[in-house]
Amino acid sequence: MTRLLPTSTAGSLPKPSWLAEPETLWSPWKLEGDELAEARRDALRLALDEQRRASIDIVSDGEQTRQHFVTTFLEHLSGVDFARRAQVRIRDRYEASVPTVVGAVARPAPVFARDARYLRALTDQPIKWALPGPMTMVDTLHDAHYRSREKLAWEFAAILNQEARDLEAAGVDIIQFDEPAFNVFFDEVNDWGVAALERAIEGLSCETAVHICYGYGIKANTDWKQTLGREWRQYEESFPRLQASRLDIVSLECHNAHVPIDLLELVRGKKVMVGAIDVASHTIETPEEVARTLRAALRFVDADKLYPSTNCGMAPLPRHVARAKLAALAAGAAIVRSELAD
Ligand SMILES: [Zn+2]
Repeated sequence: MTRLLPTSTAGSLPKPSWLAEPETLWSPWKLEGDELAEARRDALRLALDEQRRASIDIVSDGEQTRQHFVTTFLEHLSGVDFARRAQVRIRDRYEASVPTVVGAVARPAPVFARDARYLRALTDQPIKWALPGPMTMVDTLHDAHYRSREKLAWEFAAILNQEARDLEAAGVDIIQFDEPAFNVFFDEVNDWGVAALERAIEGLSCETAVHICYGYGIKANTDWKQTLGREWRQYEESFPRLQASRLDIVSLECHNAHVPIDLLELVRGKKVMVGAIDVASHTIETPEEVARTLRAALRFVDADKLYPSTNCGMAPLPRHVARAKLAALAAGAAIVRSELAD
């Protein structure tokens, strides 16, 4: 990246109301078949357009191509039975009905390569693509086959590596793995979580990122956040291992997050996507608020390694709110960029 403080989003943008129910997380599609395929591509173009108009530097599909960040990927794998549902507790926080692993898992065909090529053809800007991380995939399933979270994670890591290689070939510049489970299962993170992620990025020459996260602004997450106390020190558990890993970028939430900013010292040397936009609130940040978050992060992240971003995905927000937040992010980054140039 040649521009200082290149802006990006951590993930999703709201979907248009003709594609899925607005302001609803994981909302079902409103169309099907060829109509759905065409509508998703149209929505991707709009999401790209909104990022460009807001002067976002590293652009994405806004996750218009998926209904859910884990299950849409799982739907394309063999060995996972969506008809056989089980009730599990996801991230030790909320009950959900999930599909079951009934046999050896495999990826019969690329999942997102076609969409990534479509995005690549629309822009010369750097593009980022998000995939679920192995641990978070394991945590969103019932496993009746391997009966070991670790074993299943290694299988998913190999599959994710195939997918990542296809995305790289499609021209993706940064592949991001979403691992909200890293904020919950600390022993597993250090035992095999980061190692499985490194398996997923094996042989790649594009940049790689991991997004750890306190979740969207849904009730189960905001209730959980109430229990975390005044200082959120969860990153303290995973950062030392990530600092030593081969991943290039760490993406985390910083604005309104009660995360002590000095925890960033633990990943010194890595590029950091600093979340300066709260996705759990409809209040639009001022550019100065964004700038303040970035300045605070600059004490622990070298300027050439700081990537201003959002705390998490913006899918559940009204479109006009997400649009205004993107603009605030870019404006805040511009303030700090000009300060650094002085
Ligand atoms: Zn997130």
